[in-house]
Amino acid sequence: MSRFFSKKYQNLKAYTPGEQPRDMQYIKLNTNESPYPPSPSVLDAVAEEAGKLALYSDPECTELVREASKLFGVKPTEILMTNGSDEILNFAFMAFCDKEHPIVFPDITYGFYPVFAELNGIPYEKIPLKEDFSIDANDYIGIGKNIVIANPNAPTGLTLTLEEIEKIVASNPENIVIIDEAYVDFGAQSAVCLTKKYENLLVTQTFSKSRSMAGARLGFGIGTASLIADMQTIKYSTNPYNVNRMTMAAGAAALRENAYYMDNCKKIVKTREYTKRALEKMGFSVTDSKANFLFAKSEAVNGETLYTELKKRGVLVRHFSAERICEYNRITVGTQEQMEVFLAKTEEILSEMQ
Ligand code: PMP
Repeated sequence: MSRFFSKKYQNLKAYTPGEQPRDMQYIKLNTNESPYPPSPSVLDAVAEEAGKLALYSDPECTELVREASKLFGVKPTEILMTNGSDEILNFAFMAFCDKEHPIVFPDITYGFYPVFAELNGIPYEKIPLKEDFSIDANDYIGIGKNIVIANPNAPTGLTLTLEEIEKIVASNPENIVIIDEAYVDFGAQSAVCLTKKYENLLVTQTFSKSRSMAGARLGFGIGTASLIADMQTIKYSTNPYNVNRMTMAAGAAALRENAYYMDNCKKIVKTREYTKRALEKMGFSVTDSKANFLFAKSEAVNGETLYTELKKRGVLVRHFSAERICEYNRITVGTQEQMEVFLAKTEEILSEMQ
């Protein structure tokens, strides 16, 4: 740290992204990317836009927002496109939270939430998940604070029902409820429909998982026009051209080919269920994940050892050291072939442990 670093950030613990090692070719099951490539029209759109890079991108993301508004059944004024969904989450924390408006979220969830809170000087509170890692919706009913919940939650993959989400939103009318739907396309019920009914609901989604565009950085939020306008103020006060030309064109093309991506989601769900059954046969406990990852532990091998041994064998999974979950690993669902390799290596490690 230099002596010039602002005091307000001196205790900030930055978010740690999943590792991206380059020492060898890994089967990458650690950052919840899609194993499938973008559709051909996305590649064409990117190539075409690359020729126009001398010009700034459209700050209103007009075409992309138009496509999204058709697909999600909301007005263009009810959508804001951002540089990954991390950016819309940060905009929401900046726009709606402060010392008088603290935020709550589960103790086990996306690790960026406390970082956004600390970055922006926002008090926060963690609410413990139940013993089985599910969220107890009752903990959030009428809590009177801003709330962010990932649905499905990460890294557990567990979901709340739409009814539970509605109760949380309806019972906190003076507070903002952010539902982070990064993984919604793999099996949860989306709360986008509720944004028409509740002015305190913001739903965020991303193109990083179900739409094979993690490297392009595109996310978005859906809420009432006035919530979106507040976040536009933040956007135009930080980075008006937050979505670059190529990403914008890629996103619009991806939305036009929604069926291709939803088909890939179906394949991933099928592979997820296959892998879950295979892990259970090997003695693992696996949560009932509705996301594109599994969360699993075995009595026969500790979480960190399994992670390390898999890495030695060329398979990367994500291990977290937090006490409640350190026996687990989060395993992104890849192609069927990748998961066969993962399962074979896991079996090999288990047999060596005996
Ligand atoms: N929310 C959750 C729950 C996530 O796991 C992630 C991925 N790290 C994000 C949001 C952000 O993803 P992105 O910025 O790539 O849209």
